[in-house]
Amino acid sequence: MPKPKIATDWLAGCSGCHMSLLDIDERLAAIAQVADIRATPITDLKQPDESGVDVGLLEGAVNNSSNEEVARRMRARCRVLVALGDCAVFGGVPALRNFFTLDAALRRAYVETESTEPGSQVPSDPELSAPTHVRALQEVVPVDVFVPGCPPDPDVIYYVLTELAAGRTPQLDGPRLHWH
Ligand code: SF4
Repeated sequence: MPKPKIATDWLAGCSGCHMSLLDIDERLAAIAQVADIRATPITDLKQPDESGVDVGLLEGAVNNSSNEEVARRMRARCRVLVALGDCAVFGGVPALRNFFTLDAALRRAYVETESTEPGSQVPSDPELSAPTHVRALQEVVPVDVFVPGCPPDPDVIYYVLTELAAGRTPQLDGPRLHWH
């Protein structure tokens, strides 16, 4: 039987969830025995090709038009989509920006900081991703599995990956469901 295919990618966040995934350490070799890891942010291939994969893990909140595009493409190409970490599950740290209007947040970032040059403007290049209200992944696309934590514990990520690779639904309750 072919191994299930897995892909990972990230949206707005700090990449700490992927660092936690790498902290699985030598057990990554065990995962490679039971799953085919097709795409990750640390390879040239970030997203699964159009033929799709069985499991996709997405870290981070949806923060701009480019994030939204990545989330929708990932959803379309993954049979099971996992929201990895607090930012993906409920918005986390990036969603703190929602306490301010988008205009105020952009002015604070580009115009009103101590280090900005006089006359600085909020960038308006149409090539740049358009910032949006920060949203959890499930507010943009349907999500199948939620793995909270900031970041999620490597043991929990290992458990989730091995369960999904075996075709089972991970049960994140009791001791596995905790925040750091
Ligand atoms: Fe970083 Fe925490 Fe967000 Fe993961 S959940 S991307 S570790 S801030």
